[in-house]
Amino acid sequence: MIVFKTSAELRNYIDSQRNLGRSIGFIPTMGALHKGHISLINSARQSQKLTICSIFVNPAQFNDKQDFDKYPHAIADDIVLLSAAGCDVLFLPTLQEIYPNGPENAQEYHFGFLETVFEGAQRPGHFNGVGKVVAILLNMVQPDALYMGSKDYQQCAVVKNLCKQMGLADKIEFVACPTQREADGLAMSSRNRRLNEPQRALAAIIYQCLVSIQSKSILNSPFAIVAKECADLMKAKKIEPEYIAIADADSLEPLSEFDPNKKMVALIAAKVGNVRLIDNMIIN
Ligand code: AMP
Repeated sequence: MIVFKTSAELRNYIDSQRNLGRSIGFIPTMGALHKGHISLINSARQSQKLTICSIFVNPAQFNDKQDFDKYPHAIADDIVLLSAAGCDVLFLPTLQEIYPNGPENAQEYHFGFLETVFEGAQRPGHFNGVGKVVAILLNMVQPDALYMGSKDYQQCAVVKNLCKQMGLADKIEFVACPTQREADGLAMSSRNRRLNEPQRALAAIIYQCLVSIQSKSILNSPFAIVAKECADLMKAKKIEPEYIAIADADSLEPLSEFDPNKKMVALIAAKVGNVRLIDNMIIN
């Protein structure tokens, strides 16, 4: 695996590979990698792409400074994992490389309704920060395919919208990869490293609630009751739900009741101690 720290070196290499007929698969990450990230690398490799992973902890997308300060870093381990997975290139830019004029002066993108619900509502400015960094990275890498995890369901919708705004929707294939889970169902996440042992044992309740919402959707139970049952279950284990919701899986329009005529997604955000976790599940 080759490691580049500047976009100039990265571009040179990508151009040389393009001249050899390679197409480019891109996986942007914030590091502290786990099997979820590696599943995205595997997807790119399976389609014979030159596989480029970036690691950059983007300050612009953290609305909570403490969350940014505590975000795990594990670059030595990340390099071992990526090399073992057969990743071709790691792009490891500095803050200055991504934001030469500071994050606040980077081109800003807006996502309308998508910015106002769920993660957008709970983390003001978060998706604008995601938009900034992904736009810069897409301009640097100019990939043929972009691999992102369904674990961050709303982020996938935002980045698809970003590609449209940038006029890239026809040039970049967007590949949403399935959520990788631990044996007890907990969605893999870099933030899981910050859970202590008892918290880690309880965190799978988030997944159990999603499964419960899925099974109750088939019975058409009133959603308010289902959501309250989930909230009570979480609170009994000292997990603080931020939202427990169902939405139209395409538009992310929140739904107040199950609607078998729509493709629906259940979404949960909850705090386990001071670690904020999100998860989701397509329920029909
Ligand atoms: P992050 O490093 O958290 O910004 O994540 C980088 C990419 O990996 C994003 O597209 C995430 O959605 C994806 N990802 C994170 N966790 C998982 C998971 N458990 N399964 C699949 N993809 C994931």
